[in-house]
Amino acid sequence: MSTEPCPLIIAIDGPAGAGKSTVAARLASRFGLLNLETGAMYRAFALKALEQHIEPTNGAALEQLAASTNIRLEPTPSGNRVLLDDIDVTARIRQPDVTQAASQVSVHPAIRRWMVDLQRELGAGGGIVMEGRDIGTVVFPHADIKVFLDASPEARSERRYAQAGGAGSQEAILREIRERDERDRTRAQSPLKPAPDAVVIDSTNLTLDQVVARIESLVTARLDAHHGHASHVDASSAPREG
Ligand code: C5P
Repeated sequence: MSTEPCPLIIAIDGPAGAGKSTVAARLASRFGLLNLETGAMYRAFALKALEQHIEPTNGAALEQLAASTNIRLEPTPSGNRVLLDDIDVTARIRQPDVTQAASQVSVHPAIRRWMVDLQRELGAGGGIVMEGRDIGTVVFPHADIKVFLDASPEARSERRYAQAGGAGSQEAILREIRERDERDRTRAQSPLKPAPDAVVIDSTNLTLDQVVARIESLVTARLDAHHGHASHVDASSAPREG
């Protein structure tokens, strides 16, 4: 295993509750990458819309709001610190009202274009693991490694329920997950779907360690190829050729 800096762009996409954030954080710390959570950016913008009493369905007003909004992500070892117009909103954006609004504001094409530009700037230097819904399909279609992490809605709601320490009802979480899935998968602009060259991992019956180990082996193969040891890499274990 190489200890040189990792220049790769790793894209992790998938629906809510599939384990993307935890897996991305583990990969980032393992390979010394910046971990960028794009969902947090949509959440921060949704919070601003809520605070300004702008309907999350009002595309024109949202576009105007975006023009005067500054969103920053600061990767830290314990996750992304999220700054909305220089105010730390890291905790606030995890509340259910923001979750719901983020899912709604993210359908608007102008908002997505703005976010995608910001995300490309953030990742331009490489050495990142970026997670979201459209990283491998739209933001970085040439990412070195693309993973689409999925799991059954039941497994995902069970995990979210456990993460919340048993607060709320698992049925309500399942309903919310299904609703967000539906909106993410059916929107006209960059719907949630695996890139044709993504490695699809269904984590329903896998442990977190198993998922991380699988992706680590993809990264290691890719890094070896980068460092000129391509002839030792089993091509079938690499996510794509070239
Ligand atoms: O990943 P997270 O649950 O924090 O994302 C919040 C919402 O932002 C999602 O429900 C999704 O609708 C939207 N999103 C998106 N594209 C991304 C990341 C998140 O549309 N790249």
